Amino acid sequence: MSIIVFGSINIDLIATTSRLPIAGETISGDNFFTAGGGKGANQAVAAARLDIPTKIVGRVGKDNFGEQLLASLQANNVDTAGVVVDGDIHTGVAVITVDSSGENSIIVVPGANHRVNNTEVERLKNLLSGVTALLLQLEIPLEFAMSAAKVAQEMGVKVILDPAPFPENFPTDFYDLIDIITPNEIEASQLVGFSVNNHENATQTAIELCRRGVKNAVVKIGAKGVVCATEKETFFQPAFVVEAIDTVAAGDAFNGGLAAALDTGLSLKEAVKWGAAAGALCVTKSGAQPAMPDRETFDNFLLRRR
Ligand code: ADP
Repeated sequence: MSIIVFGSINIDLIATTSRLPIAGETISGDNFFTAGGGKGANQAVAAARLDIPTKIVGRVGKDNFGEQLLASLQANNVDTAGVVVDGDIHTGVAVITVDSSGENSIIVVPGANHRVNNTEVERLKNLLSGVTALLLQLEIPLEFAMSAAKVAQEMGVKVILDPAPFPENFPTDFYDLIDIITPNEIEASQLVGFSVNNHENATQTAIELCRRGVKNAVVKIGAKGVVCATEKETFFQPAFVVEAIDTVAAGDAFNGGLAAALDTGLSLKEAVKWGAAAGALCVTKSGAQPAMPDRETFDNFLLRRR
């Protein structure tokens, strides 16, 4: 079978400096590099690296960054036939400055991602046969993320929503379209209106999200693990103990791993374990897409940690 992602595609432009500049100041940097980013593209690469046939639907500009990102997705075995190339807007960018202590400042300019519309929803419709799960995030217009979820639900494809970044008004009629919602601590707090930072309040949150209409809720609480609620039970998956060096995109690795397991036919419990393993391996490397584990590394890790 296969999975499909409907979401953002960004290029990260990363400059490293000894300290961050203040307003009006020009300083000299140490290093510069570009990397593929965007939650949609990150989740697609995470699943494809685990050898799951993966497609992405989204939008890039007709520019060098767009070309570079499509080539890099393809090099990671992500099928990009569903990506629209838009001649009227630039590719989504994140301009990132990182100082020597690891502190950063980031400007995201969504560009083409914010022009995702019904054209992409139609493309999605045509690509859904043989797909087990749709991975959604909210770096594209909410309205069309919801349309994508509707189309998937109608075709019996599981909808996995990462509600990030959390919108000002989360529509209550979204809940019924979601098979698995996967907030982190911040998004979980925004969803329920109380602080979510431990096993107890994460469990309360997961149960509340099921009460609101999602089939399953998976609350990611970083190195403290993951709490899940289904219609029948709640369970806890501890985080794997690793030496974390960069937590960027841990949540995206988790969602890619979760979808990969479901596509393989595993249970939700096993899928959450796969998500946790992918998240743990991701934090042991720096960057987003380059940190996603390949299948061999992933299998060896799970074998050793049984
Ligand atoms: P996000 O990146 O969306 O903020 P989290 O930080 O909660 O999401 O990370 C997602 C998952 O990745 C966690 O639930 C956990 O399974 C795994 N993970 C994240 N940080 C660590 C860590 N320091 N050690 C081990 N696993 C981690």
